Amino acid sequence: MLVEPNTGRLVFRTTLDRQKGGSAVGLERGQGLAGWVLANRQPAIIANTAEDTRWQTRSDYIDRERSALAVPLLLEDEPLGVLLLVHPAADQFRVEHGQLALAAAGQIAVALSKAQLYRYVSEQSERLGLTLQQREEEISKSVAIVRSIADGVVVGDRLGRIRMINPAAERILGISAEVFLGRQMIELPGVPMESQHGQPEGMEQLQVNERTLRAHFAPVLSSSNEWLGGVVVYHDISREVLAERLKSEFIATASHELRTPLTSIRGYIDLLLLGTLGSLSQPQNDFLKVVKTNVVRLVELIDDLLDVSKAEAGEMRLRRETLDMAEVLYEVAESLYSQFTARSISLAIDVPEGLPSVVADRQRMRQVVVNLVNNACKYTPDGGHVDVIARSCDDKLRVDVRDTGVGIAESARSHIFTPFFRADNPLREQAGGTGLGLSITKTLVDLHGGDIWFESREGEGTTFSFTLPLGASDWMPAEWLGQVE
Ligand code: ADP
Repeated sequence: MLVEPNTGRLVFRTTLDRQKGGSAVGLERGQGLAGWVLANRQPAIIANTAEDTRWQTRSDYIDRERSALAVPLLLEDEPLGVLLLVHPAADQFRVEHGQLALAAAGQIAVALSKAQLYRYVSEQSERLGLTLQQREEEISKSVAIVRSIADGVVVGDRLGRIRMINPAAERILGISAEVFLGRQMIELPGVPMESQHGQPEGMEQLQVNERTLRAHFAPVLSSSNEWLGGVVVYHDISREVLAERLKSEFIATASHELRTPLTSIRGYIDLLLLGTLGSLSQPQNDFLKVVKTNVVRLVELIDDLLDVSKAEAGEMRLRRETLDMAEVLYEVAESLYSQFTARSISLAIDVPEGLPSVVADRQRMRQVVVNLVNNACKYTPDGGHVDVIARSCDDKLRVDVRDTGVGIAESARSHIFTPFFRADNPLREQAGGTGLGLSITKTLVDLHGGDIWFESREGEGTTFSFTLPLGASDWMPAEWLGQVE
């Protein structure tokens, strides 16, 4: 009988009694003679099973098991089971039988443990084999994926040596994997120099041969943040760059070509309105004014487009002069006054006495303020309120344009200064627009060395603020002022 490892029960594992072999059942821990032998770790001889309480048997066996001898199967004091001998006659076992059985039990225990060990080892190696096979499958799947993706991928080990180059990387970089495997990662473009230890991830735009690439380097870390190597992904963005350049060129050319005839149209409308070609009837005059308003709007739109393409090409130039910001704010307020009264929106300008002047481009500053105040009016419901506040603090001049308007949704905030972006809001359709104003405004404030930002609460209002550096005029030679840069 052997001890079941999980339950501690004693079960018949093998028997010389054929009749009994099949029907054998187990004993709970400590039950019967075998249980006793195991618990006490010593042999036991029963002369007459009918008189010994340790003996338990089924009634139909009673005549076949009169005397019994049981010895523990011990391996280094660890009980593995019990060797049990029975005889149909009473008083059949002597101490010598016990000693013999004990000697045999020692051999059996060693053989058993070897068998168990063998089973354990073969089970483990089977399991290991399976795990290895699964890992190999996973690795070959990953390698197949990396090899088949369209982006170039190069993987390096912890010593910075190239371990893998996929076919796309070979094609994009114009290199051969055979030549580069085993060489240092830093020999490749887009890999940061100190990529050996704890290098943070980084992105770089590169020109390799005819292609424009975006190289993304990332460290490979273990779950315990141990540096295992690095990986670079090369994405070919040549087409995007070309499309972007063509778009900018198209916008620049089209705007330029459109502006010339519109300037001429506006000139002739002005002449007509002045009555140079004879007086106009009232309806003619009214219609011409509508035409003029729309031509002016078209010219403004085209000017915005030209500004965007200039900004993208880095060709925006400033005509700097000493500027009284209060003057600019009042001028803008006056020019937009009718727009505010038409929608019963009140406009208040708050400028302290003696606000220091700034060195800035008057036309461009006017454009900045017009865009912000105009937006404040457009995106505020009828009857609302707009405040324009200017202050000087430390070495900066700050202007806030605060409205009680529709506000800007959280999801739109990161795109607000992107060209052509228009957020969704209840006044979007009524307000009209191209989404160019704020992107130009930001470029202009940046060019002046200032900052622009906003705070907003949806449904309550928005405050756009910008700052300009003060004091440039103190050190700038007078002859520089007004110079085209
Ligand atoms: P647009 O021509 O659409 O007014 P802008 O570049 O001036 O273009 O503004 C971009 C978007 O920012 C607008 O479409 C609007 O959704 C949002 N926005 C700008 N100013 C305000 C404001 N004061 N209140 C709420 N939303 C604003």
